[in-house]
Amino acid sequence: MTAPHRVTAVPDVPAAVLGWRTWRVGRRAQHRHALFSPLTGTPWPAARPMVAACASPRHTPPGDSCPCGLYAVADTTTLGWSPSDHEVLGVVALWGDVVEGQYGWRASHAYPRFLVTGPGISAEQRAVIARRYGVGVHASELPPRELARRLDRPTADVLRHTDAADAGDLLAEVTRRRDPVLPAPRRRSWRSWLTS
Ligand SMILES: [Zn+2]
Repeated sequence: MTAPHRVTAVPDVPAAVLGWRTWRVGRRAQHRHALFSPLTGTPWPAARPMVAACASPRHTPPGDSCPCGLYAVADTTTLGWSPSDHEVLGVVALWGDVVEGQYGWRASHAYPRFLVTGPGISAEQRAVIARRYGVGVHASELPPRELARRLDRPTADVLRHTDAADAGDLLAEVTRRRDPVLPAPRRRSWRSWLTS
């Protein structure tokens, strides 16, 4: 894992709701170390909370009858994905006003707690993202979408509440899980086959 710096803007974990969500990393050179909301393309600030915005002047996010707010889910298999290989999976802390829904939460304030990037994100990008955002960034051999699919609910729940530093071992275990262990092929020459 790439070592984080501490970000003081995020409240203590007991005060926050912890959920899973995705980000993408910017495509342009100057945005390659920035996190964006995958659907709206809204940039997530580093070292200060992401604050939800809504076009409606009648309420502040998250609205009761408006889908605004910063999203996270409890079960990674319910995450939506856009067709991109740049996605980042991670646990996010939600606080302020938090509305609970069928799959998770919408909140007024959020900040990433730890991130998992797939093969599309370089070690250099991970290091800079970890430093800028002050969060742990784990590398996964699996694309985040595949990792999210493999996370069963009990493991996802444990990971949600795990310190970023300890998440690496669990994530590695999930990556290995369900990969069939195939015996190495036994190479035998024609001659040895005849004589055995
Ligand atoms: Zn709204």
